[in-house]
Amino acid sequence: MAEAYWKCPVCGFEAHNEAEKMKHMEETKNDQKHKEGHGGEMEGGAKCPMCGATFNTKEELDKHAKGVHHQ
Ligand SMILES: [Zn+2]
Ligand SMILES: [Zn+2]
Repeated sequence: MAEAYWKCPVCGFEAHNEAEKMKHMEETKNDQKHKEGHGGEMEGGAKCPMCGATFNTKEELDKHAKGVHHQ
């Protein structure tokens, strides 16, 4: 059984790949609950693609990626 690639923290929707995740984000981007729950990934915030940590700015994510993941 394939594990879910990503599970929506707001509604529990399970995506099996990046495309499904993005589709769900797109479909729910105007929903207030989802906006908050998805960590503002599309609202100027940033989420680490490697560990899922969220940051308020891309600069913070950049620092995190460099320090933690050596990216
Ligand atoms: Zn959702
Ligand atoms: Zn990370």
